[in-house]
Amino acid sequence: MLVAENPNLVSKIVTGQNFEGRPLNVLNFSTGGTNKPGIWFDTGIHSREWVTQASGTWFAKKIVTDYVRDAALTVILDKMDIFLEIVTNSDGYYCTHTNGPGAVTALALRLTRGPKAHSESEVKSIVDFCQVSRSNLKAFVSIHSYSQMLLYPYGLHQDPLQGNRANW
Ligand SMILES: [Zn+2]
Repeated sequence: MLVAENPNLVSKIVTGQNFEGRPLNVLNFSTGGTNKPGIWFDTGIHSREWVTQASGTWFAKKIVTDYVRDAALTVILDKMDIFLEIVTNSDGYYCTHTNGPGAVTALALRLTRGPKAHSESEVKSIVDFCQVSRSNLKAFVSIHSYSQMLLYPYGLHQDPLQGNRANW
């Protein structure tokens, strides 16, 4: 519906499918152009964190309603594409809505992370998308609701980032 109502701003990209065959959908917010710098956001990869999928839905709606009205967002979208995967773990999302969020917690204790890096289709589709299809990404943000932390990925060095307070 968001795509149909805003075809000049939003399109849907299917990046793969999950274990149970559901499509992995990514929203692409773009004002046109090719190979523009991009920003990736995902919500719901930990499917029991229901508020993140809700936040992703709110964020998508906010982008289409605020483009042109909000100066900062307009500048960003005029120069960059935004990619947003709202239900990143759709198998888990279905499971938690069928059995409750505790079901995934119990399963996660047994299933953990898969046999190797990128072995799970949800993660592999993101890696393939980011590395191959959209190599011009400038930021990658994965949104979770567990705790109140801002986590940075492992980088090239162990020095604190500039402006980062030591005891957050
Ligand atoms: Zn999480």
